[in-house]
Amino acid sequence: MMNVPFNDPGALGDELAYVGDAIAQGRLASGGVFTQRCETLMEQALGVPRALLTTSCTHALEMAALLLDIGPGDEVILPSFTFTSTANAFVLRGARPVFADVRPGTLNLDELRLERLITPRTRAIVPVHYAGVGCRMDAIMALAAAHGVAVVEDNAHGLFGSYRGRCLGTFGALATLSFHETKNITCGEGGMLLINEPRLVERAEIIRDKGTDRSRFLRGEVDKYSWVGVGSSYGLSDILAAFLLAQLEAAERIQARRRRLWESYRARLDDWAHANDVLLPTVPDDCAQAYHLFYLLLPTEERRQSLIAHLADRGVASAFHYVPLHLSPLGRRWGYQPGDLPVTERIGDQLLRLPLSNGLTDEQQDAVVAAIHDWRERA
Ligand SMILES: *Cc1c(COP(=O)(O)O)cnc(C)c1O
Repeated sequence: MMNVPFNDPGALGDELAYVGDAIAQGRLASGGVFTQRCETLMEQALGVPRALLTTSCTHALEMAALLLDIGPGDEVILPSFTFTSTANAFVLRGARPVFADVRPGTLNLDELRLERLITPRTRAIVPVHYAGVGCRMDAIMALAAAHGVAVVEDNAHGLFGSYRGRCLGTFGALATLSFHETKNITCGEGGMLLINEPRLVERAEIIRDKGTDRSRFLRGEVDKYSWVGVGSSYGLSDILAAFLLAQLEAAERIQARRRRLWESYRARLDDWAHANDVLLPTVPDDCAQAYHLFYLLLPTEERRQSLIAHLADRGVASAFHYVPLHLSPLGRRWGYQPGDLPVTERIGDQLLRLPLSNGLTDEQQDAVVAAIHDWRERA
């Protein structure tokens, strides 16, 4: 039996050589040459004024909350169907998370149900481009502008995806990326803050560098650096930046491979899905997706658990995804009840993710598809 891991990040070639170069440079902390190369590469690839490499997407979200001066009494609107960090970053500053439902097709923040959640206390809207498929950013940006609310895109899934021809991560005042080992491009743990509002750049650098103007010092703009604001330690080690640069330089190859795997799943599972009341991912025509996840929506939670167990018997690791935040033990503190966000609750029970990673081989994918087809015969 072939074992198929859910995620196999794998190195692509140049990572070790670049890490060796970083060590040879003798500068292992943040802000070194590899950090600068990663940031410049991303600023040019995405067309953002400033990209700051961070220790994680979680920390980039925390920086966003600090930059927007989020505090007690503020409300932040975000989908319940997301990772804890999307909420934690703002809750840590004392804000109240206001959970929005998602659209049944894309599983993205439902912009049609957004306006009724906006109050005079709303300070930010945090859309998540689930699976790397863009939210309806034109509607979200228009609503945010009408109410004077900032937009922070949690783009952990959507690097190199686009909506109406524009890169995800370039719509909000701020956006975040993840380079965690489960993401398309990785250095194990890492992230990035994309700053689309130039007036936020200087403070962002200070927040990342322990409240100092070290970034200006490294650029030779000041002859010593000092404590100029509040901040923390959100800079990525140059050793990890070196690993990351190799991955970013291989981005086209990575994305092409993931696209081939994703399209192969869809083509080979389409008939099976129709015959078994299973839904495959929806990608609207105006979205170029990032091929981050391939998921199935089973008709019931029982069927999903049955398929997960069957795949495990065949050596295939599959996974459900987010347990809705509004019904989690912490989320309930804000008074949420079952039934409040019906689409989120339903898909939380139905969704199953198939193995999709840079290391997945054609033979492994064949084994996944064959195992799924067998399950139907036994069901
Ligand atoms: C992975 C992920 C994060 C957290 O990323 P880290 O880099 O691990 O901190 C945040 N939001 C979403 C939607 C994610 O998928």
